[in-house]
Amino acid sequence: MHPPEYHPLAHCAVSATPHQLTIGAHSYPADTIITGNNWQIPVHTLSARWLELVNYYGAGYRVPLAGLVFDTTAELDALGHFLPLIPHLEPIQRQAFRTKLNALLSDVRLQIVLFRARTVIPATLSMRAIIAGQLLLCFWRRPDILAALIASNPQFHLYTDAQSYTRAGGVGGGCYSVEDHRIMLQVERLYEGFFTPTPNVCPLLHELGHMLDGTAMRMQKTTVCRGELPGMTANELADFVAGKRTEYHCYQAWYHGRPPSDGRMPLGHPYVFQTDGEFLAGYWEMFWRNPHTMATVSPQLFAAWCTYTGNDPRQFIAADYTGYVRGNREFYQSGERPWPSAIQFHVAM
Ligand SMILES: [Zn+2]
Repeated sequence: MHPPEYHPLAHCAVSATPHQLTIGAHSYPADTIITGNNWQIPVHTLSARWLELVNYYGAGYRVPLAGLVFDTTAELDALGHFLPLIPHLEPIQRQAFRTKLNALLSDVRLQIVLFRARTVIPATLSMRAIIAGQLLLCFWRRPDILAALIASNPQFHLYTDAQSYTRAGGVGGGCYSVEDHRIMLQVERLYEGFFTPTPNVCPLLHELGHMLDGTAMRMQKTTVCRGELPGMTANELADFVAGKRTEYHCYQAWYHGRPPSDGRMPLGHPYVFQTDGEFLAGYWEMFWRNPHTMATVSPQLFAAWCTYTGNDPRQFIAADYTGYVRGNREFYQSGERPWPSAIQFHVAM
């Protein structure tokens, strides 16, 4: 049997016994070697590490192979499954990514902690690097905004299980507290959208959208979130607002039972039209997960965020995650009435 290649298996669920490692539908004996880009690792090392981690974290340690490999080897190559920009970087940029990620991971202003009940326990490297790396990815071309975000002392609190999450005050599938500038997530949700070759749902990105809103609020020294991104220039804000208004007007047309004659639908679900904050969080996640569709359906908004981030996610997201897009279309086509929107207009004096 050929030694299995790592990359086609990166998204597969793993489990182990002392004698074999199951990756997706196949089990591999202890002496098998898994081969990645410039690295190799024997299955017995991965099995031993998996058993150690599951023994320590319990059922909350539910990761695809990429997570286990990263928690065993710290190879940036394995992190590339979670941060799809990485495989597209030139060697010199990759080196820069690694350096900046290491700096973020040791930056005391970025608080990433894992709780079991009320006790803080050590998070794995993949838990910390998925969060720090996601911030780095979003603002890869905007180090100024990344610096402002880190200077705002953002907090990420992870929980090993649902009970610990709920007891700490966590609600829904993840949440952000603007007062504490804190995202709370059950840890397995960090990995949830990575059991497919292309990333799918990403509660971290959604909550990050809320956190960016809270960062903008802090930077503007105001007391309410307005659904804006931090550090936008007047032009960037105007472009964003114009794109958002186009979506909002389309949504209102559906809400009032007068959909556009060409059948155009907003990209977002009624959930994200509830408030400015949900709009930002929902579209922020879609920008990074279904950029190809967003560029077609909401070209103005998409272009505004490409300019703001200095990045076009279509360059490294080969195929959209279409789950949201499909679900949202189904809602509008269902004939069900969309929900009332409380999006604000901020009339100035
Ligand atoms: Zn939300």
